[in-house]
Amino acid sequence: MATYNRVALIGLGLIAGSMSLAIRRGKLANEIVGYARSAETRDIAREINLVDRVVDTAEEAVKDADLVVLAVPIGAMGPVMAAIAPHLKQGVMVTDVGSVKKSVFDAVVPHLPEHAHFIGCHPMAGTEHSGPRSGFATLFDNRWCLVVPPETVDQGELDRLCDFWKGIGANIEIMDPDHHDLVCAVVSHTPHLIAYTMVGVADDLRRVTDQEVIKFSAAGFRDFTRIAASDPTMWRDVFLTNKDATLEILGRFTEELFVLQRAIRQGDGDLLFDYFTRTRAIRRGIIEAGQDTDAPDFGRKPTKVD
Ligand code: NAP
Repeated sequence: MATYNRVALIGLGLIAGSMSLAIRRGKLANEIVGYARSAETRDIAREINLVDRVVDTAEEAVKDADLVVLAVPIGAMGPVMAAIAPHLKQGVMVTDVGSVKKSVFDAVVPHLPEHAHFIGCHPMAGTEHSGPRSGFATLFDNRWCLVVPPETVDQGELDRLCDFWKGIGANIEIMDPDHHDLVCAVVSHTPHLIAYTMVGVADDLRRVTDQEVIKFSAAGFRDFTRIAASDPTMWRDVFLTNKDATLEILGRFTEELFVLQRAIRQGDGDLLFDYFTRTRAIRRGIIEAGQDTDAPDFGRKPTKVD
C-alpha cells in the first residue's frame, strides 16, 4: 500500500534513482516526480523511465508532493530548500539523504515553512558510481537507514517515514545529529579519507616504479581504489561539513598508526599479532550481523558494489 501519494525526488543520482526503483518495487507511492539540475540528467532520467514524471524545476517537482526527498550533494541542500520552500504543500514531509546530518539541519530547517515537517535520513548504502544510470532497486535491502528527527517531532509522521524506508528494504535506527555524525566519521568518512590518501601515495609511487603499483595491485589496494573512486563533490562536502567529528577520529587514527609504526620498528610481533587478532574479530561481527559476506569476492557484483 502506498505510504505517500506523491513523492518528489530532488536530485536524480545514485541514491534518488535507487529510491525510485525501490519505491516502485514496493508500491510505496502513487506517483514519483523527479528533478535534477542539468538538462542532461533530466533527459537521461526520461529516457530510462527512472521516475514517473521528470520536470524542469524543483518548484514544479514539489507541487502537491506529500514527501519531498532532497537527494543532492550536502552543500546544495540549503539553496534547494530555500528555492522549494514557498511551493510546498500544507503538511508535507521533507527529508534528505545526506551523509552528514547536523549541517543539513542547520542549512535546511531555517527555510522550512511552519506547516511542513522535516526529518533527516541517511541510508547507509552506496557505491562508487554516481548519476542517473547508477541506481538499482536492491541498493538499500537489509542496509541501515539512520533516521534523525528534530527534537520535537510528530510521532505519526516519524512512524510513517520509517515505514516508507522499511518498504524500500532498509532497517531503521533513530539517532540524534551529533551522534550520527560521529558514528559516520568512524565507519565511513575517515575510512574514505584513508583510502583517498593511500591511493594518492601509491599514485606518487607509481611515478617511481613505472606502473608496478597498478600492475601488481592486490586485493587490499584494489579495495582502496574502489572507495577512492567515489564522487569528488559528495566527499568534498562530507569533509567540509563533518569537520569536527572527522578530525577527532583522524587524531585517534594517527595515534594508533604511530603505535603500530613503533611496533614494526621495534619488531614487537606480539603487539602486532594481538592487534590484528582483535581487528579480525570485528570483521567476523560484521559478517554475523548480515552486513557483508564471507565469499571470496565479498558477494559483490563487479559493478554494483557498496
Ligand atoms: P549523485 O549520483 O552525484 O547525484 C546527485 C544528484 O544531485 C544529481 O542528479 C545532480 O544533478 C543533483 N544536483 C546536484 N546539485 C544540485 C542542485 N544544486 N540542485 C538540484 N539538483 C542538484 O549523488 P548521490 O550519490 O545520489 O548522492 C546524493 C546524496 O546522497 C548526497 O547528499 C550524499 O551525501 C548522499 N549519500 C550518498 C551515498 C553514496 O554512497 N553515494 C550514500 C548515502 C548517502 P546533475 O546530475 O544534473 O548535476
